Amino acid sequence: MPTPVTDELNGSRTYVCVVPGCGKCFVRGEHLKRHVRSIHTHDKPHPCPFEGCDKSFSRRDNLGQHVRIHLQP
Ligand SMILES: [Zn+2]
Ligand SMILES: [Zn+2]
Repeated sequence: MPTPVTDELNGSRTYVCVVPGCGKCFVRGEHLKRHVRSIHTHDKPHPCPFEGCDKSFSRRDNLGQHVRIHLQP
């Protein structure tokens, strides 16, 4: 999963997509997140349905395993 990085070389905070071959820049973190979700997660069509969780999985059984961590007390 790509993570936002900040580039402060030119004095402005920029979120750069770290996916190899992409490198798109965004002013806001949410924009980068949305970009990553819509562009780079096609191979992982099973996103975690829990609010605030960004994980997604290529296989449904992997998602099932992950969801368990949210359900533990
Ligand atoms: Zn990208
Ligand atoms: Zn989750």
